[in-house]
Amino acid sequence: MRRWRTVIGLEVHAQVLSARKAFCFCPTTPSEANSNTCAICLGEAGSLPVLNLDAVRVALRAAAALRCSSISETLEFDRKSYSYPDLPKGYQITQRRKGLGAGGCVEFEAEGVLRRVGLEGAHFEEDSAKTTYRGDAIDVDYNRCGRALVEIVTLPELESGSEAAACAREIQRVLRRAGASEARFEEGSMRVDVNVSVRDDDHLRPKVEVKNLNSLRAVRAACDYEARRQAEIYDAGGVVAQETRSWDGGETVRSRAKGGAEVYRYAPEPDLPPRPLESLVGRSVADHVDALRREIEPHIPAAVRARLRKRLDPLAAAGLVDADDYGRTARVAFFDACVAHGAKPKPTAAWILGDVAGALRKLEFDTIADSNLSPVDLAELLALLDQGTVSRRAAKDLLPDLLQRRTSSSVEDLVFERGLARISDVAALRQFAREALDAHPNELAAYHAGKKNLEKLFIGKALAASGGRADPVLMRDVVRDCLLQAS
Ligand SMILES: [Zn+2]
Repeated sequence: MRRWRTVIGLEVHAQVLSARKAFCFCPTTPSEANSNTCAICLGEAGSLPVLNLDAVRVALRAAAALRCSSISETLEFDRKSYSYPDLPKGYQITQRRKGLGAGGCVEFEAEGVLRRVGLEGAHFEEDSAKTTYRGDAIDVDYNRCGRALVEIVTLPELESGSEAAACAREIQRVLRRAGASEARFEEGSMRVDVNVSVRDDDHLRPKVEVKNLNSLRAVRAACDYEARRQAEIYDAGGVVAQETRSWDGGETVRSRAKGGAEVYRYAPEPDLPPRPLESLVGRSVADHVDALRREIEPHIPAAVRARLRKRLDPLAAAGLVDADDYGRTARVAFFDACVAHGAKPKPTAAWILGDVAGALRKLEFDTIADSNLSPVDLAELLALLDQGTVSRRAAKDLLPDLLQRRTSSSVEDLVFERGLARISDVAALRQFAREALDAHPNELAAYHAGKKNLEKLFIGKALAASGGRADPVLMRDVVRDCLLQAS
């Protein structure tokens, strides 16, 4: 049996954030099927495309965020001709000869390993209509037809389904943080095609495209399935057919749409002559891209992770960044603000990822920013914990109050108002210890009969009796003392 290695490249299609479509004035707001259409996006004879300059500017943000190494000085469009009901005019306006940007890279972590995958580039094009099969009939919704897309193509450098999914996830994060796309699989604003092939020592076999994957899980599973399928065919002495396939949730199947080896007959788009990009951005392209990079780069996940790793272990750094999809409002910014208020980085990250996240979930807040917890609050709470003024349990108990708080009193005041301060007063501790002993006469007898490890039980019960507020070290001494006296 030969050993096959998997080779995968991604084509990510993401809808550009824009109020109207790419080449007409139809709105992009969700509405009843086939209500957002006009002569242009329906391709009626004699209609002419009108380029949506805003959409191009937004797509440029994606190219800058993906570190495309060269941004094109001119905007050029091409026609990709094919016949299918999702494109009424018989061709798609795309960028074949020259995209918005060439080169670039994505950095991500797959199974704990840092990976860097190169990009072929990013280009601007229009979306096709949404088609749904019902038996042999097709439902077509032209609301999507003509929406602005940015297509991002990676080099075939991915080696497994899980790497492909991690890479797609990272592209999703970058697009969101660049403000270029919502990039939501579930709403169809992000779709992924994968090119899968296998190689043995001799050479790379031809690739098969699996189109329209609409979740990360589908990306992972379809890549793994397809690589296995191809390897099995070659091992059996067969030839893998050149065709477009789709994922049905369990296996890849020959696509019903667009048979495979189409001839697209690309040609320069005659209705949109080349235009200098400079005229769109109002300054030199290089200056514009530099400014975009300065603005966006600090928010790009790979950059944020690298910065946080200087203060946190990689897992905590990744935890803060990865759960911070829309970036600027939630976890990382909150963490930074806590640290700026004097909180220690490691416990702050642990609290944000652990107890705070748990309390947010319980109270049904989507993000920290939606709650009333401020970075000053958390920094103050962690300082009180550090000084021993509150126990961990009491600090945790106070969290729901802080998330929903309406008062401006300090956290320390709240601790005392709620009676959550740590109890170090020996007389009070003795009271709790006595309660614990009195409530468990059988265990006490067993302890005196020699079961000395019951001491732990009494300490636990006494701490519980104090509502977790007792100083645990002092409590241990007090319980021991009481046990001696009781003998
Ligand atoms: Zn239209």
